[in-house]
Order: sequence, then structure tokens, then C-alpha cells
Amino acid sequence: MNSKKLFEEAKKFMPGGVNSPVRAFEPYPFFVERGRGCFIYDIDGNSYIDYCLAYGPLILGHAHPSVVAAVYKQAEKGTTYGTPTEKELKLAKFVVDKVPCAEMVRFVNSGTEATMSAIRLARAFTGKEKIVKFEGAYHGAHDYVLVKPGSGATTLPDSVGIPKETTKNTILCTYNDEESVINAIENHDVAAVLVEPVMGNIGCIKPKKGYLKFLRKITKENDILLIFDEVITGFRLAEGGAQEYYGVTPDLVTLGKVLGGGLPIGALAGKKEIMENIAPSGDVYQAGTFNGNPMTMSAGLATLKHLDKKFYKELNKKGKYLTEGINDIVEDVGIGYLSSVGSMFQIYFTEGKVLNHEDAKKSNVKVFNKYFKTLLKEGVFVPPSQFECCFISDAHDYKILDNTLEKIETSLKKLKN
Ligand code: PLP
Repeated sequence: MNSKKLFEEAKKFMPGGVNSPVRAFEPYPFFVERGRGCFIYDIDGNSYIDYCLAYGPLILGHAHPSVVAAVYKQAEKGTTYGTPTEKELKLAKFVVDKVPCAEMVRFVNSGTEATMSAIRLARAFTGKEKIVKFEGAYHGAHDYVLVKPGSGATTLPDSVGIPKETTKNTILCTYNDEESVINAIENHDVAAVLVEPVMGNIGCIKPKKGYLKFLRKITKENDILLIFDEVITGFRLAEGGAQEYYGVTPDLVTLGKVLGGGLPIGALAGKKEIMENIAPSGDVYQAGTFNGNPMTMSAGLATLKHLDKKFYKELNKKGKYLTEGINDIVEDVGIGYLSSVGSMFQIYFTEGKVLNHEDAKKSNVKVFNKYFKTLLKEGVFVPPSQFECCFISDAHDYKILDNTLEKIETSLKKLKN
């Protein structure tokens, strides 16, 4: 069997042949045999330097020995119990210790569940119903937030099957734009402003200087909760995520990806007086069979023990090295626009800067698709969509980064010709 044949067969058994839309790229996705360090290997005998990294979680790279050992050790003792373990407490203490806004934590199984629960909690706490979200921001695949979302949904029509009754409470604003937020708050009784501090689902868009501080100020002045969706940026940009990186502390944070060390996870965390409203200590219902399961907790703990200040200094240094290199290439070749922060980056095929969803959507997706395919042939795997973000892991060394730069240069030159 090869990837092409498996995909043909998979389409008969799973919608579109995949279990998450963005994975189904043209003409067919490669089927993975294994991953190790910064490499991913397909069943057709190819290997790729991986900058998709499972869409962000694998900050140590694939199959890191200490994560593998921790998961293996836990599996031998049982995979899930439905009763508490000390590992949940250890991971919760870690989050509280590192993430500025976190005084209490609830572990769930995905970022989707985390944002869904955070919104419910914010509504209950404030007694208001409207939520501000930004165009192009992706907060998971639940009804409240699938309004002009990013990620795989950017290139698809808005999902059907979502009641207007639900989305009428979601107010859209433009990222990096003060005016739209001021208007939303003036015209609606807003419970929470939900923001990806760095937009990571429409490529990679940084906040303008002072923008997150502006959001903090205006929400505070209007008794609105500020929720940072740090499913991507949490434990990615710094120990304390984007809130540490940019020095702005929200009321609530949603986490996922890196926190689970490559196993399914989500979490919401925040101030005690808000978090204590969650059941069973409060009346906001939230539950899950696999919440805080010991397999994920083990992988999370094994990962997080590597993530100290020195780790982020090194990782962000690698990010700077690679992205400065890409920037030089982009300028030399005269095609593309690089946007990056820390170990996150994306190349757009636009004229000029990308500050929001509208700017990002001006990118020439056809050119991006060619770039993706050429890079893949060169042995580099980036997410197969213009509207996703690339990530660097600790396993990417400088030799690999230099090799990547050569391959990016070759691919961009081919596009130009
Ligand atoms: N929030 C953000 C910022 C994300 O990037 C994602 C997923 O990519 C989610 C929420 C949803 O997380 P999950 O896919 O674990 O449900």
C-alpha cells in the first residue's frame, strides 16, 4: 500500500478521507509511518523536515525519549481511571506557576472544549451573553466561534448547521484595529473579548505595539473579561506564553497543544474568583471522561520539565536565525512576505504587510499551493494551507535550519521563474 491508494480507500470510510479538514491536501496527503526529532517519515519511503509539527504541539520534536518513556511507564499502570491522580495536580501547579493569569486550572481534552467552556464561564460570571471575536481567529470547531473563523475553515464556506440564535451573540471585530472593538463595546453588552494574542490560524499575525494593552484597558473599563486563546502561543512563545511575552495579563486563558506533550489536551485557567464558578465548586457545568487523564498528564509533565527560560531563549534564537534567513531570501528573490514571532512563522504571497484577516486573504493562494508542493518535493513539510502557521522545535538544529533555508530559496526561485 502507498499513500495514494490508502487515501482512495480512506475516502470510502471517512468523510474526505481524513479526520480533520486541513489534512486533505491535493492531490493526496502522505500517510505517516513515524516521526523522530524534526523529521516525519511517510509510508512511501520519503522523509521531510517537519515545520507543521502536528499544528504546534511538538515543541521537543517527534517521539522525544523522555516523553515516550513517561507515556510508556504510565500505560503500564493503566491509561485512565476516572478518579484523580497526583499528576493532574502537578501539571496544574506547573500552569499556575508559569502562566501569569492562572490561579486555577481545569483540564479538558482539546482547545475546542477549552474555548467553549471559557465562553460559558465568562457568560455566567458577567451575566452577559455577547462575545467579541476577531475575523480570521480560530478557537476550535464549536458553534459559538465558527463565525468568520481561520484555519481550515478560512477556505471553506461558513459551516451550515449552526443556529443563528447561537451566532447572533458573537460580535466580529478586526484584529489590530481599535475602532472596531470600541464600536462593538459601545453597541453591545459584551461578556468577553476572546483573542488569539498572536493570530496563528490565518498564517502568523503579530499584535501591533500596544494592541493587547489596549484590549486589556478597554475590557477592564467596561467590566468585560479578556480571554487570551493561547492554545498555540501557550508554552510556545515563553514559559508564560504570549501574556508573558507581551506583558499583558488577561482574566482567563485557554491552553492546549504544547501543554499535552503531543497527546490530546485543552485547559482553561484564570483568576480564582472566576474559575471557582466551575462545577463542582460552582454552577457552570463542565465535565469530561478523559479530562486530566494520566497519559496526557504524563506527556505534558515530561515535556514541560524541559521548558525553562533557557529553553525559550534558545528556541527563539533559532526562530530568529531561520526567519531572518527567510526574510533575506524573500527580499532577494522578490517574492513573498514573511511574518513571524519567536518560533512561529509564515510566508504570505501578498504585496505589503499583513495585519489582519483581510490582508491575509489577499495572499495568492495558488502561489502558496505551488510553494507548498515544491517544498514538499525538496523534503520540507510545512502546513498545507496559507492560513496555518509553521513551527520550529528544539529538535531542529542549525544544520537543519541552514538546509531548510537552501530549500526555501530553491522553491521560491522556481516560483519566480
Ligand atoms: N484555539 C486555537 C488558537 C487553535 O489554534 C486551535 C486549534 O488549532 C483551537 C483553539 C482548537 O484546538 P483543538 O484543535 O485542540 O480543538
